[in-house]
Parts: sequence; C-alpha cells; structure tokens
Amino acid sequence: IIRIDQLNKWYGDFHALRNINLSVKPGEKIVICGPSGSGKSTLIRCINQLETHQMGRIEIEGQEIHAEMKNIEALRARIGMVFQSFNLYPHLSVLDNLTLAQIWVHRVPRKEAEERAHHYLARVHIPDQAQKFPGQLSGGQQQRVAIARALCTKPQIMLFDEPTSALDPEMIKEVLDVMIELAHEGMTMVCVTHEMGFARKVGNRIIFMDAGAIVEEATPEEFFRNPQTERGRTFLSQVL
Ligand code: ATP
Ligand code: MG
Repeated sequence: IIRIDQLNKWYGDFHALRNINLSVKPGEKIVICGPSGSGKSTLIRCINQLETHQMGRIEIEGQEIHAEMKNIEALRARIGMVFQSFNLYPHLSVLDNLTLAQIWVHRVPRKEAEERAHHYLARVHIPDQAQKFPGQLSGGQQQRVAIARALCTKPQIMLFDEPTSALDPEMIKEVLDVMIELAHEGMTMVCVTHEMGFARKVGNRIIFMDAGAIVEEATPEEFFRNPQTERGRTFLSQVL
C-alpha cells in the first residue's frame, strides 16, 4: 500500500533522509524508532507530503506522490495523521474539530459529517465530549479526539508521530489502547514511537533509524532480543 524507493530529502544543505527504501503491505503495522534528529518525523511527513522530497519515489497504492500533485487533499484523506502535540483547533468544539475538514475540504454533508464524528468519538471511548472545547479535556482525551478526527475521513493508512510522548504516564495507556484496537481491526499503521510494549504487541516490523538512514529492520522480537548494530544496542539501552 506504501512503497518508498531511494527516498532522499535535504533541508537546505542538510541531508535529512538518505536512500530510504520501505514497503508497507495492507494491514501491516510498522514501528519507527531511533534517536532524536534521526529523521523519523521527516520520513512520515514525506508520506503525506507535509514535507517534499528531492529524490526518489513514494507510491501510495501505485500512485506516485510528489510536491506538484493536484489532488493533495484527496491523498491526505486517505492517510490519517496524528501528531505529538494533538494539533486541535482550540477555539472550536470537539464536534467542530471533527467536522471542519469533512465539510469544507471533502464536501461531506453536515449531517453525515456529524454522524461520523459521533461514531468515531464513541470508537475512541469519549462519546460524551462532543460539545467541549479541547482545553476542557485531558491530554489523553485530546489525543483521542485527534485520532477520531483522522478517522473521520476514512483513511486507509494511519501515521502516528510520537502520539503519547507529550502525555502524562497515566494517560499514555488510554491512547495506546485505542491504537491497539485500531491495529486489531486491520488498519495499516506507521507509528513513530518509543513505546516498546506497543511495538511488541502489534508491530509487524521495527525500523530503526539513525542519521537519516534506516539502520536496522527486524521483527520487534529480534530487535529487542538481539539488535544487529552497535547503534541499535546503544539506543535500546537508553529507552528500555
Ligand atoms: P525527534 O525524535 O526529536 O522527533 P526525528 O527523528 O523526528 O527527531 P526529524 O524531526 O525528522 O527527527 O529531524 C531530522 C533532522 O532534520 C534534524 O536534524 C532536524 O534538525 C532537521 N530538520 C527537521 N525539520 C527541519 C526543517 N524544517 N528545517 C531544517 N531542518 C530540519
Ligand atoms: Mg520527530
């Protein structure tokens, strides 16, 4: 469903992604980990073209995606994205956060948009928070709103960029539980996370990045038991 070939990206002179090759099959759960600055966010932001790349190829279901593509919003509807910092609109109610893009970008009729919003709020276990504003919710609830918002456009792929790293420990589990449910329902997922329990439970593959390159690729079991590189070992000793 995702195919990345020889992807390279520079920020000015800085070579942020180096010869990245990665294929993701439908229903696969990929966990990306690696030290700060290794290019994890850059890689997943390239997948939905929040960042543009300079070399190589990214295909989503056989369609090449690139900076000049016309229908970028249609692409983004197929790829849900959840950020570390929630990125909700603080001045809009939860319901409006969930319906805004549906109504104005994807032209879904308001009634259907609201039905979808309530449906996905129930799925993330906060059915009664629709009228509140983000500031009235806990961090874990806000992140679940962000997940529900991404699901409202019925994406085929969900990208997560450290969705729990801004949360207090007691709220991490409620967000991970929602992600685990999504995984069990068959969603294709690419998750940047250092939550190794999550990686073990649902990850089909772990991608370990360092300095803009994929350094190791293994099953979670293999990677945790016996990392193949010195950099992988050093990283694991810091996060476990
Ligand atoms: P973290 O774990 O801290 O989130 P990361 O692996 O997600 O790190 P990226 O955010 O992808 O790392 O950044 C990779 C490198 O690219 C870093 O050295 C960063 O400073 C650089 N970088 C990221 N965004 C930009 C930008 N907009 N302009 C210039 N350099 C950038
Ligand atoms: Mg990052």
